[in-house]
Amino acid sequence: LYVPVPLARDCVIATTAAQAHYLAHVMRRRAGDALRVFNGADGEFDATIESIGRRSARLAITRQARAQEREPDCWLCFAPVKRDASDLIIEKATELGVSAIHPVFTDRSQTARVNLERFAAIATEAAEQSERLSVPDIRSSVDLFRLIETWPPERRLFVAAERAQAPSLVMVPPFQPVALLVGPEGGFAPAELDVLSRRAFVTIVSLGPRVLRAETAAIAGLARMLASPET
Ligand code: SAM
Repeated sequence: LYVPVPLARDCVIATTAAQAHYLAHVMRRRAGDALRVFNGADGEFDATIESIGRRSARLAITRQARAQEREPDCWLCFAPVKRDASDLIIEKATELGVSAIHPVFTDRSQTARVNLERFAAIATEAAEQSERLSVPDIRSSVDLFRLIETWPPERRLFVAAERAQAPSLVMVPPFQPVALLVGPEGGFAPAELDVLSRRAFVTIVSLGPRVLRAETAAIAGLARMLASPET
């Protein structure tokens, strides 16, 4: 269970009402049951449920089960697509190990709004399910050109572009700061690709000769980039 509070041996923490509901009604846990908790900074801890009510559950932290581990430093920047496809992108990107997720609006974006709370809830559940010790940071949505203007130049940005005469996206060395950008259903506008390709921190990449759906491109791209056994 992800609990965004400091964790240490022998402390007692209180969950939110939503987590108490999740523990009681989804995980079917009761007072006295054991579970594991993590907060993204202090590793993973064994805990025992002291009490569980509607408003909160009290968890007694017993011992550290896993130390915090070094994780990949890979962002996913994606143009939000239809709801189910965006949800799938968040879930799979989290399982694959991204450290941050940036919804990006582009010229041909067909989705005008995103629900960041929903994205955060999906990422939290996927982190718990995949036994990660952190939850990716869900960033506020941003316009593509604004993202590029404020981009940290030391972070290589791989831009996935179909039908591009571009090198194949390959695995990146472990822990290198990188990011993958995937476009919307209608692809990037030529002017966007032109601006992107002029930036020194950008590499335009191909994911093969087929035109993939955005969600396939995000998952396939991240799987390649994060294929190192160390990440
Ligand atoms: N409508 C566009 C077209 O037919 O040219 C296709 C856009 S595709 C559905 C959505 C996004 O997935 C693209 O903007 C790109 O980022 C990525 N993508 C799809 N296929 C790709 C490929 N073969 N190589 C690299 N990126 C790809």
